[in-house]
Amino acid sequence: MKDVGEMLVRRGYLWQSFEIYGGMAGFVDYGPLGNGLRRALENLWREYFVVNERAVEIDTPTIGIEDVFIASGHASSFTDVAVECKKCGKIFRADHYIKEKLGIETEETIDFVREVITTYDVKCECGGNFKEPENFNLMFSTTIGPGRGKQGYLRPETAQGIFINFKRLSDYFRDKLPFGVCQIGRAYRNEISPRQGVIRLREFNQAELEYFVHPGEKKHPLFDNYREFRILLVDKNDEEHDITLGEAVERGIIAHELLAYFIGKTADFLLKAGIKKDKMRFRQHKDDERAHYAVDCWDAEAYTSYGWIEIVGIADRGDYDLSKHREYSKEDLSIFINYDEPVVRKVRKILPDMSKLGPKFRKNAKKVAEALEKYSGEIDDVLTLEIDGEKFEVDRDLFEIVEEEEKVYGERVVPHVIEPSFGLDRITYAILEHSFDRDVIDGEERRVLRLKRWMAPVQIAVLPLLSREPFTGKAEEITVMLKKSGFFTEKDESGSIGRRYRRYDEIGTPFCITVDHQSFEDSTVTIRDRDTTRQVRVKELELPEIMKSLLSGERELTEVGELFK
Ligand code: AMP
Repeated sequence: MKDVGEMLVRRGYLWQSFEIYGGMAGFVDYGPLGNGLRRALENLWREYFVVNERAVEIDTPTIGIEDVFIASGHASSFTDVAVECKKCGKIFRADHYIKEKLGIETEETIDFVREVITTYDVKCECGGNFKEPENFNLMFSTTIGPGRGKQGYLRPETAQGIFINFKRLSDYFRDKLPFGVCQIGRAYRNEISPRQGVIRLREFNQAELEYFVHPGEKKHPLFDNYREFRILLVDKNDEEHDITLGEAVERGIIAHELLAYFIGKTADFLLKAGIKKDKMRFRQHKDDERAHYAVDCWDAEAYTSYGWIEIVGIADRGDYDLSKHREYSKEDLSIFINYDEPVVRKVRKILPDMSKLGPKFRKNAKKVAEALEKYSGEIDDVLTLEIDGEKFEVDRDLFEIVEEEEKVYGERVVPHVIEPSFGLDRITYAILEHSFDRDVIDGEERRVLRLKRWMAPVQIAVLPLLSREPFTGKAEEITVMLKKSGFFTEKDESGSIGRRYRRYDEIGTPFCITVDHQSFEDSTVTIRDRDTTRQVRVKELELPEIMKSLLSGERELTEVGELFK
C-alpha cells in the first residue's frame, strides 16, 4: 500500500488537497492521470447504465433547499454518533472508534454508544474521558442569498435531484415504466473523522441510477444475460454462496430478478473497469443495517489494503422517496399506467334506496346516499358511516347490492425504485490497487500498473529511439496523427528508451510506439505491449486502425503484426 500510495502521488494520480497549507482530511485532488482514469470510469459507466438501458442522464444543482432534505429525512436523520474528548477536544465517529479500539460492531444510537463506553471504560487516545455522545448531522449546511438567507445544504447524494423531478421525467418517458434516470456528480458529507484517504471523503463523486418500476413487475427483459453469472454472495446471516444469480433468486437469497439483474450488471461493469474477480463480493445488508423502507439491499465490496470496502450500494427502496416527496410537496408523484388491453372486472355496487333513506335521514339523506355509494368495506346488518365527524347507522334494507362488469383502462401507481449507487472515488482507488503489480524483466524488477487498456489515462506513448532529429520530428508527426484519431497520446523523448518504457509501464500505458532507424527505410514503427513487453513492427499509416482494435481489446498484439522479441 505504501508503494501504491507513493506512486499515485509521484506520478500524478491522486494528491492531498490544500497540500501547501498543510492539507485537510477528507479531500483529494485528482492529478492529470487520476482525472483521466476517473473520466474513463464515468464513460464506461454511462455505456453500461445509460446508453444500454432505457435510461437518461440529468444534471441538477449540488446545493439543495431545506424542503428537499426535510422530506427525504436527511435533515433529521442523516447522522452519525460522535464522541468528544473532555480533555483534548478531539472528536471521533463513535462506531469507528469503538471498532478500532475494541473490535466490536456498534449500533449507531446514542444509548448503545453510551452503554459501550461506560461498560468498557473507553477513553480517548490522550487518556481523557468522553463527553455525552451526540448525533452529528453529516450534511454541510449553507445559506442561500444575503443576510440570514434561506437555509440550504450541499447534497449528500445525487438521487434527490432525480426524485423531485419525477413528474417531468415521467412525462419525458410518456408515463411508461420502467425507466431509469441517472446523475453523475459531486456529493458532500461532513464525515466526522475521516482517516482512510480516498475511502472516506467529505467531497466525493457518485454515479447513481434510479430505476423506476411498476411495484408488481420487478423483472428485467435482459436478466438472461446474467442468469448464469457466478458470483460470490455473502447473505445477511454472513453465509457465503458461490452461486449463479438465477439460483440466488430461485432460492430467495436475492429478493427478486431486477435486483439480481443489477447485481450482475454491476459485477460485469466492475470487472470490465479493472476490479479483480477474486477481490470482489456482494454483501447483503443485515436486517438491522437496512433502512426500514428498503426491501433488500446489497453492497458490492472490493478487497483493498483497507480491508473489504463498500464501493457500490444496490437497494430496492420501494416507493419511499416518491411517497415522501408526494407527502411534503403535495404534488401527485404517481403515474397512470394504461393497460395494453382494457381489463374487464366485476365490481360491487351499492344502490341506495332513496324512498327509504329520505324519510329516515331527511336533510342528511343525500350525504348518506353518497357515502354509501363510495363505501368499500365489509357489508354487515348495519353499516356505520362517519360523515364530517358525525355517525350514521344504515340498516341493510336501505340499499341494494349488485355486481356489475366494468372496463378498466389502467391504474394509478407510485412506482418503486431500484437504486444502484456507485462511489467513483472508491472504485478508482480499488482499480489502482488491484492493477498495481511487480515483475522481473531482463533480470530487473519493474513496477507495472496493469490497467485495462480502455481505462488507461495515457493510452499510447510515442517514443523516438534517439532524442534528436529526424527521430523526434517523426514521433511528433505520429503523435499528432494518433491524437487526431481520438487517442490519449503522449510523446516522450527524455532519457534512455528502457527508462521511458519503465515510466509508461508504471503509469499503466498499455502500448508504446517506437520510432527507430528502420522507420526511415520502410515507414514502419514498433508497438510494445506493456504486459508482455513483446513488440511487433507495423506500417505507420495503419496505426490508427490497429490502435483502435488493440485498445478496445478486439485484437491482440500478435494479430496485428509479427513478433520480433
Ligand atoms: P450510500 O449512499 O451511503 O450508499 O453511498 C453510495 C456510495 O457512495 C457508496 O457505495 C460509496 O462507494 C460511496 N461513498 C459513500 N460515502 C462516501 C465517502 N464519504 N467517501 C467516498 N465515497 C463514499
